[in-house]
Amino acid sequence: MKANSGQAGGSESVLVIGAGVIGIGCAHYLAKSGFDVTVIDRSSIASACSRSNLGLICPSHVLPLTEPGAIATALRSFFDPSAPFRVRPRLSPAFCNWMWQFARRCNRSQMLRAAVHLKAILDSSINEYRQIVSEQGNDFEWQDSGLLYVLETDSGMREFAKRNRLLTEEFGVAAQRVEGKELSDFDSAIRPDLAGAFYYEGDAFARPELVNTCWSRSLAQRGVAFVENCKLDAVEIRRGQVTGVQTSKGMMRAGRFVFATGAWSIELSSQLGCRIPIEPGKGYSITLERPRSCPRYPMLFPERGVGVTPFENGYRLGSMMEFTGFDTSIPDARIRQLRESANPYLVEPATGQVQESWYGWRPMTWDSLPIIGRVPRLENAYLATGHNMLGLSLAAGTGKLIAEIVQEQTTHIDAAAFSPARF
Ligand SMILES: Cc1cc2nc3c(=O)[nH]c(=O)nc-3n(C[C@H](O)[C@H](O)[C@H](O)COP(=O)(O)OP(=O)(O)OC[C@H]3O[C@@H](n4cnc5c(N)ncnc54)[C@H](O)[C@@H]3O)c2cc1C
Repeated sequence: MKANSGQAGGSESVLVIGAGVIGIGCAHYLAKSGFDVTVIDRSSIASACSRSNLGLICPSHVLPLTEPGAIATALRSFFDPSAPFRVRPRLSPAFCNWMWQFARRCNRSQMLRAAVHLKAILDSSINEYRQIVSEQGNDFEWQDSGLLYVLETDSGMREFAKRNRLLTEEFGVAAQRVEGKELSDFDSAIRPDLAGAFYYEGDAFARPELVNTCWSRSLAQRGVAFVENCKLDAVEIRRGQVTGVQTSKGMMRAGRFVFATGAWSIELSSQLGCRIPIEPGKGYSITLERPRSCPRYPMLFPERGVGVTPFENGYRLGSMMEFTGFDTSIPDARIRQLRESANPYLVEPATGQVQESWYGWRPMTWDSLPIIGRVPRLENAYLATGHNMLGLSLAAGTGKLIAEIVQEQTTHIDAAAFSPARF
């Protein structure tokens, strides 16, 4: 039975709150499992952080943000507004606690522990995506291209080689090393005078706007209802169960509720009676018209913290991680910085016409792991949020996990580390 205004939902109905890529991923696997699914969003489908990100589906991103040295980088950024990773200090107890908890985890052993769980869900998710693309056709501009990490300097190569060794030895994720003189053969859009690159062939990319629109359209054709401009205002709870949610379009009832509300999830903490420690991690992108010499591969430039992804009719530069609260500005200086950071790597400078300037609030958890599982003390409510920098990469794996957890099945990967009960 469908979740709808004022009507009691049957146990087979699920209401998903949030139509970002995570909500869409959950809807996919819940519908596939036979549930009657409705997805609501306060705005339009995937108009928040899932919209104009870099589009990488990247199992090579095993290492979390909580790595040794992250706190020193954050502290230096207090005095440098142009730092790609920037924290603006705020006197909010929730924010101070978040930072404290984050800082505690920036050590090698916790980084490796988080990475084990990230690897499991990253691998699961890319396999699920490949299955979806083979079933419903490649309307996402999906490409199994691999991902290049390009380095300008020899010292950058040496630093990255250490990271690659760690990934190889601990996780079996190994890159092909590309020396500077080979770069132009690899991708003629890269400047030939750079130090080199590391190529992770197992990664892929897609155009995020197409993932969101084509995936949700195909779900709608299979009976999933999407209700836009429908904001959840309050959660009604009786005897350990969510019985309905009050929305801007009236009361909506269902048998089960999945909250996939991204960076806004923290607002649900008091309503659901559980801790959801999420901070918005703001990033920016610009989408430019396709230059004559457009990269073939998606690339990251770790020394300057910027990435580039080629699309069929444009290309995108994206970067920055700002802990500045729910700040909606797009400063010109940040947009300029995106171009200037990419230019040292590209044959043709990023001076083209801007098709879109964008920001998104990544839902950041202090342990770098997503929050996927049943809400403690509520029988029929689930969280699918906190996907940090990897929401697109993890959407399919998250949806599969949520469908398994909702049905109380054995999960295909160990889900304990993602449980909302860990906080
Ligand atoms: C610059 C940048 C580049 C990135 N690049 C990549 C990348 O290459 N690969 C990758 O995997 N990830 C990338 N990410 C991260 C990725 O974009 C996020 O992790 C992901 O979009 C999070 O998805 P979500 O569905 O949880 O959140 P969102 O997309 O923000 O969706 C949450 C939805 O919930 C809705 N909502 C919230 N509150 C309510 C309410 N009360 N009632 C109704 N609806 C509500 C919102 O309107 C929103 O649509 C990038 C992010 C940025 C900023």
